[in-house]
Amino acid sequence: MAAAASRTNLLGLDRGQLAAWLGERGEQPYKARQLLRWIHRKHERDFERMHDLSAKLRATLAAEATLETPPLTETSVAADATRKHLYDVGGGSVEAVWIPEAKRATLCVSSQAGCALACTFCLTGKQGFAKNLSSAQIMGQYHHALQDAGTVSNVVFMGMGEPLLNLEQVVPALRLLTDDLACGLSRRRVTVSTAGVVPGIERLAAEAPVALAVSLHAPVDELRSELVPLNRRYPLRDLLRACRGYLKAAPRDFITFEYVLLDRVNDDLALARDTARLLAKTPGKVNLIPFNPFPGAPYQAPSRNRVMAFRDELNARGVVATVRRQRGDDILAACGQLAGKVAGRVPAAGRIATPIIPAP
Ligand code: SF4
Repeated sequence: MAAAASRTNLLGLDRGQLAAWLGERGEQPYKARQLLRWIHRKHERDFERMHDLSAKLRATLAAEATLETPPLTETSVAADATRKHLYDVGGGSVEAVWIPEAKRATLCVSSQAGCALACTFCLTGKQGFAKNLSSAQIMGQYHHALQDAGTVSNVVFMGMGEPLLNLEQVVPALRLLTDDLACGLSRRRVTVSTAGVVPGIERLAAEAPVALAVSLHAPVDELRSELVPLNRRYPLRDLLRACRGYLKAAPRDFITFEYVLLDRVNDDLALARDTARLLAKTPGKVNLIPFNPFPGAPYQAPSRNRVMAFRDELNARGVVATVRRQRGDDILAACGQLAGKVAGRVPAAGRIATPIIPAP
């Protein structure tokens, strides 16, 4: 029997990858369909109990494959029933947040331990980057949360990390989430959120078009480059062009633009007017997120009056804008508050010179 480390974790293989893996072992590729159902629909983790597979295939699976979710190290439950799970992913830990609402239950998953993009308002960005998660580690967050809570109707890639910088692993996970033989979620109910990795947006459109959310945070390049350093590499004009291109493949006819409101930094009404002008040719909805302070944060949350005035200014100019309700902020599970624990990290300040972003 192969050592556990050399076995393939099938939890993260999409239909095509699973068929190829079976083919390499002399099995019929169509058996991938049966396996997907066992793994993702029936949640069976013991290959011996997959009774409609041949004895020979079950023996191959037992010898060469595993179905492992990342070890859970902690679960916190907020007063509003939001549940935050911490997982050990080797070389760091990541968080997933399950958020119950009246008609749906949304799971926010992480795609990387830490993040290399160093957005100035983000606790994850402060941790530095540790590693990309495997597709199995991403799917493990989904399966664990589903078993823990009993239901997941929507999945958003808005946890730790920039998913479009880990597309090798994120694409198979997206295909599994939306495959009718696997998790069977509608493409409209799976959202990838990006800080604006333009080539990644184009690749996502071609390989796994799901709903797209873009972290905007400022409508002018100078301010956006300050808040989201990635903007120096992919400025607003290029980003908006990529968004319009994405709409040809997207399951929705609009892009969601996330806008974290920072008191007296990006919440002036003049910037709301600039935002409306910027989005005039790009069908979009704006999701306003009042800043969630964390210890040592350089920003303050704006007053409710300033938040509402910003929203009203956008709405008055024909841009649909809503204010996101805070969930789980008593357990640091709100947007931009996911920290995990990143071992062996690259300090945030050193990451601006990565190939992603040219040195300022
Ligand atoms: S906001 Fe997103 S892209 Fe920016 S540092 Fe945080 S996790 Fe990374």
